[in-house]
Amino acid sequence: MINDNIAKIRSRIDGACRECGRDPLSVALIAVTKGHSARDILQILESGVLFIGENKVQEVLSKFQAVGASKYSGQVKWHMIGHLQTNKVRDAVRMFDLIHSVDSFKLASAIDKESAKIGKVQDILIEVKTSHEESKFGVRPADLGVLVQEISGLSHLKLKGLMTMAPSGGYPSAAVPYFSELKKMFDFVNGSLGRDRKMSELSMGMSGDFEEAVKCGATMVRIGRALFEG
Ligand SMILES: *Cc1c(COP(=O)(O)O)cnc(C)c1O
Repeated sequence: MINDNIAKIRSRIDGACRECGRDPLSVALIAVTKGHSARDILQILESGVLFIGENKVQEVLSKFQAVGASKYSGQVKWHMIGHLQTNKVRDAVRMFDLIHSVDSFKLASAIDKESAKIGKVQDILIEVKTSHEESKFGVRPADLGVLVQEISGLSHLKLKGLMTMAPSGGYPSAAVPYFSELKKMFDFVNGSLGRDRKMSELSMGMSGDFEEAVKCGATMVRIGRALFEG
């Protein structure tokens, strides 16, 4: 089932790329496995998807160990896509290859400090709150420029790009304005960054709206439900 679903999702991503003249290889599928077992993760890895997204440090600890003991150890890349509390940062920098959800200087500083302790430069994305839903995390667009500047002073962080979530429950096309806004911010911020600091990643699009996200420039889509349905 997971295998078939991944093939379908991948072909839809590729189709969206073709429609807008993008290289399908420029879009990574992040398999979101929150609420699912290490066994499910191994099946996903078996299908050739090596990017795994989780949203709770507590939940991923045991899965991280199980996958680490498998033949995929060293190949899998772990993505933290959920809100990160500062008291979980120590564990997070030890497990995650990319943290999508940095939305304050306080959190960035905590990640920088813990990364320094283990001699790591942690790849991060800044989560931007493009929608006005109260429940969503993320930095406000008006505060993005300042946060980017502040983060550039932290030597154990590497800012790779931006992430957002469109409001849930709408038609796929309703997500387009939020994705386009993030893409605009991405281009604007990149214009202000030196050549060696340019961002390359735009993380946007979920099961309900990933084709729209691809057409708006996503380089990473985060897919959960669509992997497991059927
Ligand atoms: C759960 C989650 C996803 C995946 O959502 P689906 O609708 O299940 O595809 C993507 N991004 C974040 C931040 C999530 O929490």
